[in-house]
Amino acid sequence: MTPQACPPWVVLHVPHDSTAVPAEARAAFVLDDAALQQELLRMTDHHTLALFAGAQAPNVVRAPVSRLVVDVERFAQDADEPMAARGMGVIYEATSQGAPLRRRLTEAERAALISRYYAPHHARLEAAVTQALAQFGRCLVLDCHSFPSVALPYEQAEPAARRPGICIGSDAFHTEPALAQAFVRAFTQAGWEVALNEPFAGALVPASRYRRDARVQAVMVELNRELYMREDDGSRWADFERTAERVRGCCLRAVGAVGAIDALSRR
Ligand SMILES: [Zn+2]
Repeated sequence: MTPQACPPWVVLHVPHDSTAVPAEARAAFVLDDAALQQELLRMTDHHTLALFAGAQAPNVVRAPVSRLVVDVERFAQDADEPMAARGMGVIYEATSQGAPLRRRLTEAERAALISRYYAPHHARLEAAVTQALAQFGRCLVLDCHSFPSVALPYEQAEPAARRPGICIGSDAFHTEPALAQAFVRAFTQAGWEVALNEPFAGALVPASRYRRDARVQAVMVELNRELYMREDDGSRWADFERTAERVRGCCLRAVGAVGAIDALSRR
């Protein structure tokens, strides 16, 4: 099969793929190097850029640093962000195990991290969405993630619960039901076990459009990491490329099905 490109109105958002921890952020962490590596292993959505984007995605917005530095998937203000109550707002204070991650930052240090890493990332996302709307009158943000096969303590989920292979996340305002269903169907037909908004819910939209502009559609796709990597060391399974092709094929089929939903482009 010849690889097809994602339509130009699709923006791939890859927020948790990076393991980069710049020295200025590292200095505030209270973990030693081994503990930090372990936390990066647990919390990074390893290889999601390679899984979802491949070479055929024209619009990719990937966070340049680890979520342990700044989590671009969170709301910038802790007051808006439910995970802040668990010490995991935009700037984490706690690890996935509930232990301290970093010393308490001053307001100036927080502001510096936000302006260095969060703000430019969101500016890129805003620009990509604005460009798609200007050119095509529509935009789909595909929010690309993965999750561990066993729940981490911070999730406050039942650790023994079986998790699906694929989780599709939707937003009440920004995800047409037909859009979410197209993704569920595509991944189900490819032979995976798929759940909707379980174990993770929602899909990210740029702040300026959030709950305001329904031309911006969004869907989250989360892969269970056991499908494509060894979770104890982060290395790819031998058939990683085949899995990645299947994932991209499913996304393209779902997007193709959505392309036929006129309502999305007529708003
Ligand atoms: Zn993620």
